[in-house]
Amino acid sequence: MSQAERLRRLSEILVELFRSPVPTHFFQTLGDRAGTAVLSDYLAVCLQDLEKGGYLVHSLLGLEAGAPSQRVFSPDEGLPGRTISTGKSYLVDDLAAEDGVHDLEGVLAAAGLRAVLVVPIRRGLEVLGALLFAGRPPIVYGDDDLQIAQLLAAGLSAALETSSAYQAAADERSTLGAVLASTADAVIMLNQAGLVLLANAAVRPMLGLAPDTITGRPLLEVVDYAPLHDLFAAGRPGISELPLPDGRIAQASLVPVTTPFGEPVGVAAILRDITLLKNLEQMKNDFVNTVSHDLKGPITVIAGLADLMRMAGSGDANHETRCQDIRDTAQHMAELVTDLLDIGKIEAGLDSAREPVDLVPLIGEALGMVKSRAETKNIELRADLPEEAIILAARSRVRQALINLLDNGVKYTPAGGRVTIAAAFSASGDGAKAVAIRVSDTGIGIPARDLPHVFDKFYRVKNKATREISGTGLGLAITKTIVEAYGGQIRVESIEGAGTTFALELPLARS
Ligand code: ATP
Ligand code: MG
Repeated sequence: MSQAERLRRLSEILVELFRSPVPTHFFQTLGDRAGTAVLSDYLAVCLQDLEKGGYLVHSLLGLEAGAPSQRVFSPDEGLPGRTISTGKSYLVDDLAAEDGVHDLEGVLAAAGLRAVLVVPIRRGLEVLGALLFAGRPPIVYGDDDLQIAQLLAAGLSAALETSSAYQAAADERSTLGAVLASTADAVIMLNQAGLVLLANAAVRPMLGLAPDTITGRPLLEVVDYAPLHDLFAAGRPGISELPLPDGRIAQASLVPVTTPFGEPVGVAAILRDITLLKNLEQMKNDFVNTVSHDLKGPITVIAGLADLMRMAGSGDANHETRCQDIRDTAQHMAELVTDLLDIGKIEAGLDSAREPVDLVPLIGEALGMVKSRAETKNIELRADLPEEAIILAARSRVRQALINLLDNGVKYTPAGGRVTIAAAFSASGDGAKAVAIRVSDTGIGIPARDLPHVFDKFYRVKNKATREISGTGLGLAITKTIVEAYGGQIRVESIEGAGTTFALELPLARS
């Protein structure tokens, strides 16, 4: 057989080798076909077993009876052991003349095999094992055989590598699959063309969808639940609330999905049932509203009594200041209660007086309110505003919302920083025009774990950076209530230690 012919056969074997990533397929292929390129009566793959400190011999061809045993051979046994230790190839013309040192328990010579060819199977600098060919006379091996055998070993090594990468990927897939299948959160992933790439089992109890009937198809065609369409159509990464078809409420996180190389794949939505939390929040709100209403009366009485006591006098030098303290505390409590009642009113929709208001001068007024505090802290205030932006709202409420945001910016930014308010036009969810306002600062930022809670009533971040800063934790709750009452939305982005941005959007009045 010419060397050219053998190379042609070798290439056929290599192609066959890569048809499947399963090791048994490699061994089957070699056993069936290696003999067409390197003549042999016996063929074995010897693979290192690092744990046991030796190698195993897998006979692929010949010696059905009397093959080397299925034990671990030590590296100083037999020719494959030498190849594995030294990384070199070996040719032996007559095994019987070698006194058994190169044989495997003497079984090769006993089977009449005389010529032996062993080549290393390498991965980089490491030797994974050896490929052993043996033949009965008249077979003798020469350099041509060596060359082909080495190429075959290189092909096998590449195939083994592909196989382990494939196995790792398959393991990862099945782990991920198990996690996705068992979570109670619904996960839906779309590719950039809007096809459903993945929908886990939880989409059934949550959205009433059958995961296997929607996978691989365009979401718009197979699902006719408008809020879900809107969520993906807006495609804005972040957290929002999604009403579920059966009246429950889910928290929806929309995240862009990219490959490890940063190429966009699509977008995934993760839905979590938060009905219970929403109900608790409603109970808390009802409770706060009732209590604050009932507190109003007694607080007024306390303030009035303090005034009376002060006027009555007692001769004690501290009397006057004590009465004043009571008065101030009562005043503070009254303000708190007013804030709470305001939130309650706005939430209940009782606060319905609306007129066309130009936001631009309103922002100017809000800036004026925080200006002196900013100056004392040496904080630069910047504004980037359009000519005008008319919305339908109550002036004082919107001004309050803006003041709360600017006040936080100044309060939570160390001296020498900057607070910026910018307004620009944007298209809101349903295509109507809206005005987007961003209040950003270069301050202490908000830790990621606190971010989802900063709009809750009385929530304050508690850490070293905020310890000296006082407040009640109501400012953002009020702001959010106001913004939502006027059909807008607000979200926060922050990097701890670098700064915070509150972004809100309010629908423009239709002219
Ligand atoms: P107040 O009711 O007087 O406004 P407050 O400022 O503590 O009190 P919120 O305005 O509701 O309450 O803010 C809630 C919490 O969010 C704050 O306590 C603070 O920890 C954090 N926070 C709000 N704005 C910022 C900001 N711009 N930078 C850093 N942290 C902020
Ligand atoms: Mg505040």
